[in-house]
Amino acid sequence: MDLYVEEVEPSRRKPIPTDDASLGFGKFFSDHMFKMVYDPDKGWCDARIEPYGPLTLDPATLVLHYGQEAFEGLKAYRGKDDGIYLFRHRDNFKRLNASCRRLVMPEVPEDFVSDALKQLVLLEKDWIPRSPGCALYIRPNIIATDAALGVRPSQTYLFYIIVGPVGAYYAEGFNPVAIHVADDYVRAVRGGVGFAKTAGNYAAGLLAQKQAKDKGYAQVLWLDAIERKYVEEVGTMNIFFRFGDAVVTSPLTGSILPGITRDSVIQVLRKWGVNVLERTISIDQVIKGLATGAVTEVFGTGTAAIISPVKTIHYKGEDHGVGDGNTGPLSKELYDYLLALQYGEIEDPFGWVERIDR
Ligand SMILES: *Cc1c(COP(=O)(O)O)cnc(C)c1O
Repeated sequence: MDLYVEEVEPSRRKPIPTDDASLGFGKFFSDHMFKMVYDPDKGWCDARIEPYGPLTLDPATLVLHYGQEAFEGLKAYRGKDDGIYLFRHRDNFKRLNASCRRLVMPEVPEDFVSDALKQLVLLEKDWIPRSPGCALYIRPNIIATDAALGVRPSQTYLFYIIVGPVGAYYAEGFNPVAIHVADDYVRAVRGGVGFAKTAGNYAAGLLAQKQAKDKGYAQVLWLDAIERKYVEEVGTMNIFFRFGDAVVTSPLTGSILPGITRDSVIQVLRKWGVNVLERTISIDQVIKGLATGAVTEVFGTGTAAIISPVKTIHYKGEDHGVGDGNTGPLSKELYDYLLALQYGEIEDPFGWVERIDR
């Protein structure tokens, strides 16, 4: 498949934000986007990089009614050496394809979209912010585009990638956050679509998230949907607990999003000789561990924040503090290490980092 490129005339390009401190998350988008369409006869076709702009969709378009879609989230980083780096981006397309299989959507050709992504990022290289912790956020999205109201898999699809500069994900910055255990609502159930990065999961989480925010908590901690007992994940992050010398995270049972940061943290910790357990962990164990001091660090992991230390867990009407409320040493070490890897500052023993600008 060829990739047709239509560049925006230099005089018509948007101003690139210059104040990295006020970038926030998901507010700015660059001048171009990648697009391709799926046709049942031709397969994926009409691949283009073109000016960023609105999509025109029939009001009956399937995705708008039944949510048949999947997305990804990853970043491109600008190193101090001026290099442009991607981190495990192939794994994002593998996960996208796993989401596609669950949502009965055609898989995207990995080699092709990987090359298209690199071309798009290089075309938009001036949009990659240079301040520490900032990056170019990349959002691939696939949507069902048949204009029809029957509940059935679409025959046609649109896949697109948009990019834009982002700052620190949390308003609080790299400060520990307070999280609220959801006891009225659940996010996903085994056998459902919890492992897929698909729109419905996020719509389903909004109410609990709003209630937590209204009470002053940054995120929701989800419990399993069946027994409402085992910790699953937090907001749009996976979650880890340090119990003495071991680090525990929930196993991927099908209702949890298989985070690439989660997997990276597990592999890095194992390389450092830390005992990492992927084991069901009950909220009672956590609360008890916090009370006795057996749990010394709690942190979320995800592309947006990398590591998000937790200082308080609210459960059944009570706040439970984590350690002394400050970022724990292991959380800090992981954050610094992953950040240095992603920005191409240190030797990469994992083969995760790819410099794409030469
Ligand atoms: C994206 C996401 C994560 C984290 O995945 P990463 O690949 O590490 O960014 C965790 N949980 C949910 C619900 C997510 O959407």
